[in-house]
Amino acid sequence: MPFTHTFLVPEIYLDFRCKGGACRASCCENWDIAVSQDEYFRLLGMDCPPEIRRRLDCAFCAPREISPERFRLLAPRFDGDCPLRAEDGLCALQLRCGEAALPAVCRLYPRAVHTEFAYECACSNSCEAVVEQLLAREAPLTFCNAELTFPEAPPPGRHLRRPRGKYSAVRQLCGEILQKRALPLPERLLRVGEALRVLEPLLDAPAGDFGAAVERLALCDAPLPPVAMDASAGFASARALLETLAADKCSLAPRWQAAAPHLPNAAAFFRERRAFAARFPTWERDLEQLLVHHLFYDRFPFSDWHERFQDEFAALCALYGLLRLLLTGYTAEVPTREGFADAAAAAFRLVEHTRFDHNAAVLLRRQGGAFPGNLLAL
Ligand code: SF4
Repeated sequence: MPFTHTFLVPEIYLDFRCKGGACRASCCENWDIAVSQDEYFRLLGMDCPPEIRRRLDCAFCAPREISPERFRLLAPRFDGDCPLRAEDGLCALQLRCGEAALPAVCRLYPRAVHTEFAYECACSNSCEAVVEQLLAREAPLTFCNAELTFPEAPPPGRHLRRPRGKYSAVRQLCGEILQKRALPLPERLLRVGEALRVLEPLLDAPAGDFGAAVERLALCDAPLPPVAMDASAGFASARALLETLAADKCSLAPRWQAAAPHLPNAAAFFRERRAFAARFPTWERDLEQLLVHHLFYDRFPFSDWHERFQDEFAALCALYGLLRLLLTGYTAEVPTREGFADAAAAAFRLVEHTRFDHNAAVLLRRQGGAFPGNLLAL
């Protein structure tokens, strides 16, 4: 049954259009697309043209762990593409049987509907069309309320133990700090970390104390505590993180393989970093747009129920370091705006569709040292 509600969305959400067959790295490629038990049996019993039936009958395999929500996977073809994709890049299932025939994940992607803490909806930065929307935008990202309808009600999520006002205030503050363009981006990130450090113990404090702290922090005028910012150590950290993450077969792997030869050591990175800044003079604004959109999509710093704010902040620093190295190295190989967008979308496929927050915090903790500051020095 269709579900309609007012959602908070980034304004660019309303202009999103899938690029369809024109997409360079389609979401149909190299992904294990999971379908639920109900969807699986619906697709197997569906009345459809013989060509689609042939494709559907050979399209599924069982995941390692089966659940009603993740009952079968659409097994990629030998070349990594979805078996239901037509030669022109469009979805044969949708073309021949209509949008209603698609599994829920294909109908929704790249949108994510969140109802756990507040009604929020955003597209994922893992879609190249979304990244391109963000890179084309000069003004800071803005948000608005929009009435949206989805084919079904989203599953009920967890509920915040604290008043929703505090959830929204922390998230809004993080976004506002990241958009203070008078400050260099690494300083804005450090101030987000400082805000989280101050606010975490106040989450259960009276609303007045909490609100006063938020107002103070929003000014961004207090001196920051001293923090080690060693770019060479940050390079070693970010490179080790990328090597570990790209060792698995994932979207990041081919982009990092192209980037890594350009960044054999910190000195090479510093050289390429200058070339990157000359090639993309708006890189700081571009990264701001990607990060602000990501924080909203990911419900930062509440994205993982079990994480502490400082772990969420560590993951944000890891993401910054990862993007700095990947974008610098990859665009040394593919020096175009498309190369920038493709590498960013590949990074966010990993970051937004796995437990990156948790894994990055664990990996960085194992490395030890003053990693947030070092990564922000990149
Ligand atoms: S990645 Fe985005 S633009 Fe490309 S096919 Fe998927 S939804 Fe469309």
